[in-house]
Amino acid sequence: MTAINVSSVSKSFEAGKSVLEDVSFKIEAGEMVALIGASGSGKSTLIRMISGLETIDKGEDSTIALFGQDVQRNGRRLPAARALRREIGVIFQQFNLVGRLSLLNNVLVGRLGHIPKWRGNLGLFGTAEKIGALRALERVGMVDFAHRRASRLSGGQQQRGAIARVLTQQARLILADEPIASLDPKSADTVMETLSIINREDKATVIVSLHQIDHAFRHCKRIIALRQGKLVYDGPTHGIDKGDLAALY
Ligand code: ADP
Ligand code: MG
Repeated sequence: MTAINVSSVSKSFEAGKSVLEDVSFKIEAGEMVALIGASGSGKSTLIRMISGLETIDKGEDSTIALFGQDVQRNGRRLPAARALRREIGVIFQQFNLVGRLSLLNNVLVGRLGHIPKWRGNLGLFGTAEKIGALRALERVGMVDFAHRRASRLSGGQQQRGAIARVLTQQARLILADEPIASLDPKSADTVMETLSIINREDKATVIVSLHQIDHAFRHCKRIIALRQGKLVYDGPTHGIDKGDLAALY
């Protein structure tokens, strides 16, 4: 099954200045793909479009489809986008955990989309939900920190917590926008490894944007590269030399 189908997508925020230009690609369910490109090449904009935070520009054949359902067409969001939102887990460069909450509570927040009428009380989570969240923390190697405030964790630990939150959300699609950009090399490697384990074991489809290609080569089988909003490479990691790729984007 095709997880993501981006077809002839363009975007400009100001007239005459395109941020994305006629970008098309397909990603099959279960793939883990690196999205690379220099700062300003359009990676975040593309990820925000796939997650539904940004709309695509008008264009007759412009569509974004997720798991076979069109979520945007010709500049408009479609109803399927809302239904699929719960299935999309997003991971940001700045972790986006709530600093004053425990790591466990931050992870439980991932379950909120599964509760029909949430009224703002994290205490309503039952034992089963808590066990699920602890299990997710165990998988990312963070269960010992479950009761620590998020603000007291290192960047790498917070990012692994953010991945645990996406795990409890049971996302089929994980969009990670420069998840390792603020981390030291060792934490960066751990976070990338955590993402690849989830990709392999849970068959989650993962797109991870990186502005540095070493990690892409180490952890992803396929690379999509953007240069000034244009797709300049889409292919297997083993199909291209690092230096040749670096010259393209
Ligand atoms: P990347 O994530 O690869 O660094 P972005 O997608 O953040 O690239 O940005 C690509 C270009 O789009 C940049 O020139 C940026 O200034 C511009 N851009 C992004 N978002 C907006 C916005 N909301 N309004 C205007 N320009 C934007
Ligand atoms: Mg970005």
